[in-house]
Amino acid sequence: MAWIPIRIDFVEPETQCTRLASNGRRHGFPTGTATFLLDETDGQDYPFGPTCAAIKVGDKAELRGIPDFTTRDFTPTQEIEGDRGGGQAGGSGGDEASDAEKTKAFAKRYLMLRMDRVANLPGVKPGVSYAPLAEIYRGFEKTRKLTEDEMRHIIALERSEKTPTVYRSNNLLDVYTAYIQINRRINTVTPGDYHDVLVSIRDNSLLRRLTLSEGQIRAAKLTLHPDAFRC
Ligand SMILES: [Zn+2]
Repeated sequence: MAWIPIRIDFVEPETQCTRLASNGRRHGFPTGTATFLLDETDGQDYPFGPTCAAIKVGDKAELRGIPDFTTRDFTPTQEIEGDRGGGQAGGSGGDEASDAEKTKAFAKRYLMLRMDRVANLPGVKPGVSYAPLAEIYRGFEKTRKLTEDEMRHIIALERSEKTPTVYRSNNLLDVYTAYIQINRRINTVTPGDYHDVLVSIRDNSLLRRLTLSEGQIRAAKLTLHPDAFRC
């Protein structure tokens, strides 16, 4: 029964860690992000704090080179008690990751953005899902590994001049991050004009055109990377 590191991703505020701590409690996720591990016995992925994730996979080094979908989120983190662990900052794979591990994380993340995380947002521009990547993605879903050739192919696609800028890695991460943030806001505001504005920004700009203007970012009070959507 192995646990396979899949991704670092956003979790809803009420989410709790999957691992029961020795004191019988489960901690939450004060940073709003979790490490998702795949349980090989049922093929599902579950959220863990970084410390609990390291305990589950048995070796902290296993968590280097894990795709991080939260790096473009600029929400200030609150200094609350919880399992924050270390090595999460600095993007794909954390500070301790080698260049090779960072490259692997980048390729995996881009593949998952195009074929899963952004491609599966309801109402998203259909071009996100990219048919020539389908076969690589099918294999990746089974093994969770990429060959050197596959990695080169994915990175070359991301950098290709033929790839429209809205489909580049950072822009898709901005779409994903903004989608999470705007939905949280939509869920907290009462129905009315502002609610409708937020829904329209999400559906007509973010999902359909994969971009937001500075005015829209301000109107929706999103806390994104300073260069978000300036591709
Ligand atoms: Zn935990």
